[in-house]
Amino acid sequence: MSNKNFKLEDHSILAWILRNDIKNEKGESLEFKDRKFLLDILTDWNKDIVIKKCSQVGGSVIFNLKVLFAVQKKKWNVIYTMPSDGDVEEFVKSKTNPILRENPSVFSSVSQDSIYMKQIGDRFVFFKGTISKTAAIATTADVLVHDEASRSDQMVIETYKSRTKASKIKARWLFSNPTTEKDAVDIAWQVSDKKEWNIKCPECKAEQLLMWPHSIDIERECFQCISCHAELSNETRRSGEWQAQNPESKISGYHVSHLMCAWIGAKEIIEDSKGDHGYFNNFVLGEPYNPGDLRVSRSTILDVWTPKELVGHDYYLGVDVGNVKHYVLGHENGIVEVGRFKEWSFLDGLMKKYDPTLVIDAMPETTMSRLFVDKYRKAYMCWFQENNANPQTIVWWGEKDKQGIVYAHRDRIIDQVVDDILNARWLYSVPIDDEFREYIKQWDTMRREKIVNTRGIEHYRWTSTTGQDHFALSTIYFALARKSGGHGEFIPLIDERQELIDSANTVGDLSAILAEANNWQE
Ligand SMILES: [Zn+2]
Repeated sequence: MSNKNFKLEDHSILAWILRNDIKNEKGESLEFKDRKFLLDILTDWNKDIVIKKCSQVGGSVIFNLKVLFAVQKKKWNVIYTMPSDGDVEEFVKSKTNPILRENPSVFSSVSQDSIYMKQIGDRFVFFKGTISKTAAIATTADVLVHDEASRSDQMVIETYKSRTKASKIKARWLFSNPTTEKDAVDIAWQVSDKKEWNIKCPECKAEQLLMWPHSIDIERECFQCISCHAELSNETRRSGEWQAQNPESKISGYHVSHLMCAWIGAKEIIEDSKGDHGYFNNFVLGEPYNPGDLRVSRSTILDVWTPKELVGHDYYLGVDVGNVKHYVLGHENGIVEVGRFKEWSFLDGLMKKYDPTLVIDAMPETTMSRLFVDKYRKAYMCWFQENNANPQTIVWWGEKDKQGIVYAHRDRIIDQVVDDILNARWLYSVPIDDEFREYIKQWDTMRREKIVNTRGIEHYRWTSTTGQDHFALSTIYFALARKSGGHGEFIPLIDERQELIDSANTVGDLSAILAEANNWQE
């Protein structure tokens, strides 16, 4: 090859980025000091790539650039999918278009330019939602990129496989925050070469993978060597290398977690570990999460029951509405009263006596619930919803005309409350009478069931085997009321029990740990 016609930047994406000083969507030069782990991903042209990743590592910018390089320099046609057309619109408007705009000389050959299609030279990139009113793209492509694959329609992703049949390249790149197990990303990851970030302790020279919880010292709030427990610096964390755990595989797999992000400290990760486990695993550790047979049995509640009278100042009240209303009353130190009533005047009585923060079911009597919200300053009505814009958010409070409304992701807030009960984050100082027996009985019927929706995405849902979920739900409303106050997150009251998130993070292990921690009769 004659050097005269050879331009390195036509062949190397790194040379292309550095020589053109390609800017990110904010107009800043790309910064790899903290993101060394992205360099290999950027320059990996394997036909099968799978990345299970945490949130906020700059992956979408990297993949945008990779796709643009593939179209412009490798002359590949690309189909790029996201879960829905709305996701595509947001992604292209907030990431792809700004990158094109910030680098006008590099992308001067972009001619056809719409949200759903970009033409660069005589090649194309098509963007498409998997959940869409219009049919999947029928055109053929050289590479399929499935962004947020775990949250996409699994059947549609399968369908796209046929689009690369005519291509010599036939590349397929999947990446996503994981959800539960058994989606496209996890299936591909399991058969990949499973690259993990490998670092070397400067003290004892032991090579090791960064792992939760072993690589973090909870007490010192720092990263530590798994072998000699020396504190690990950010420099040590960032200067790791990818190490394949299954090197025979031809599928290139990467697992990206916050543990390798030098700009995220141990303290922040420890804080996140105390919150929602689904969020922590999916978005912080980049791991699938399925807590399996979570349950609140009779003994679980009796374990956190105390004969002592609990003293508190700030009262919280959760009310589930039906023909018979169920309520749970407590304060910052625990639950002190559970019961049922029919007349709304009874609720007025509770409000006057305790002046609690109230969270009340918005259904089925929305008008009555609204009356209480209007009448009492510290009253909220609750709607169960999913926050599509921020899937990691499980509780959010209405503002402006939505003042007095709290939204919660039903099944994930139940997960969290079950976890609070299992970890004794509050006590029960309630007389063991018929009401409390009924309370325990209803919790005992709650089951966490796995369901697969029409898009092939695994979900789970809490249901009662008898349909009697009222006391469980009024406990959820009580917990939401507690969250509303100045107290914010639940404060552990007695010593922490066993850590629920085990490093192995498998269903079997977790249910065993839970069973052991709660003396369940399996
Ligand atoms: Zn060491």
